Amino acid sequence: MLKMLINGQLCDGEGSFAVINPATGKGFAEAPECGPAQLEQAIEGANNAFTSWRQDIDARRNALKSMAEKIQANSDEIAALLTQEQGKPLKNAKQEVMGASLQIQFAASAQLPDEVLQDTDQAFIKLIRKPYGVVAAITPWNFPIAIAMGKVATALIAGNTVVLKPSPFTPLSTLKIAQVIQEALPPGVLNIITGSDPLGASLTAHPLIRKIDFTGSVGTGKRVAAAAAPDLKRYTLELGGNDPAIVLPDANPAKIAKAIFWGAFANSGQVCIAAKRLYVHASIKDQLTAELATLAESVKVGNGLEDGTLLGPINNQPQFDRVSGLVEDAIKSGARVAAGGEALGQGFCYKNTILTDLDDDARIVQEEQFGPVLPILSYTDIDDVIERANSTHFGLGSSIWTEDLQQAETLAGRIEAGTTWVNQHLALSPLAPFGGTKWSGIGYIGGKWGVEGATQLQVINIKRA
Ligand code: NAD
Repeated sequence: MLKMLINGQLCDGEGSFAVINPATGKGFAEAPECGPAQLEQAIEGANNAFTSWRQDIDARRNALKSMAEKIQANSDEIAALLTQEQGKPLKNAKQEVMGASLQIQFAASAQLPDEVLQDTDQAFIKLIRKPYGVVAAITPWNFPIAIAMGKVATALIAGNTVVLKPSPFTPLSTLKIAQVIQEALPPGVLNIITGSDPLGASLTAHPLIRKIDFTGSVGTGKRVAAAAAPDLKRYTLELGGNDPAIVLPDANPAKIAKAIFWGAFANSGQVCIAAKRLYVHASIKDQLTAELATLAESVKVGNGLEDGTLLGPINNQPQFDRVSGLVEDAIKSGARVAAGGEALGQGFCYKNTILTDLDDDARIVQEEQFGPVLPILSYTDIDDVIERANSTHFGLGSSIWTEDLQQAETLAGRIEAGTTWVNQHLALSPLAPFGGTKWSGIGYIGGKWGVEGATQLQVINIKRA
């Protein structure tokens, strides 16, 4: 069994739990169950390591570079575990691991300069950035490695130490990383623990945790915020989305269908910023629906270890039940199935599904489906569709599809979202911040905003005269 990393030591848990391969629906490995005393050791180890880790940014840069190299060198093994526990095709798993290694290298070169605010005869005022202390990093099951390594690298370069807890649905690839990077970092700087819930709740409630960096659902995000309140712990919450994609009447369905399809179905729709509601002008709705249905039927869904598979299964039984339930509910309420609409009959695989003729109040329009299903709605009036797009609690990503880039830029500013793309969806830039409005999150990751979020400010104000 793979081991946890606690205070520099690889160790077993106090018990174990089963990890399911979603392509088969069957258990294929066990992961360690972290006991209360081990959780304590991990947090205390991180707290003790903080004193020296925060001192020297050059040492941190070197350690992160070494960590990135070790992950790259072991990327095949990490990716194979990722595919087996998460479901995504091996090629995508490998891309995720290599991308995570690049993220760590990128973070290793981050700058945290002091800022001089005033330098006059009267006063010298400068601003310095300081780490928080021990950061709890908690990750979901859709991109276990990319999300974990983004959090870890950002927190570490800023001088924090970390206790990382992956989702119990996808613990193994993260544990494999614990094994390969053990030597790259001083003991206690990064601890990796696994276990079934309520391990996450116990971690966030611990008084030595000074910041929580959480990615997951809105419901859990709210519980994390509540758990942080008694201690006034800081937090970054990257939560769910229900991204609208709006297609204007001048768009060419044949030209944009492929990009919209992948914007909605990449990672089998299990992407926080997937296009989850498609609003198409009535004049081109039937044509675009037909194009998308053809793509949905032709893209192969199956076991991510098999050649030719382009999309894997839904990750777990509760999520499979949720997606199936939302589709059944939509069909019962009169939705038309343009493609899919049912399970594949193999593990948690679900056919790529396109639904039309729904009302805005259908659950699959109002809620986050987080699966391989896209509801298509039509509109005739642009002001009306912007209002409909904004009428949920979510505000993560969004997109506008048109040949008129000027109009798109103006409309983009009217959408309530952390990011609005034009003629693309899902494109993340290392130069830009990433975060959500409304229930989709608090705080930002990415670029200088991410590193700033891992630090707190201190003003030093010297009276000179
Ligand atoms: P989830 O909220 O069920 O679980 C996320 C993590 O929180 C897991 O590690 C889980 O074990 C842990 N957890 C559970 N209860 C907890 C508690 N009380 N306190 C602390 N931690 C606890 O989410 P999920 O199903 O794993 O992930 C899917 C969700 O994540 C979707 O809503 C998706 O949109 C969202 N997501 C958001 C982003 C983003 O960047 N905004 C990225 C990826 C996924």
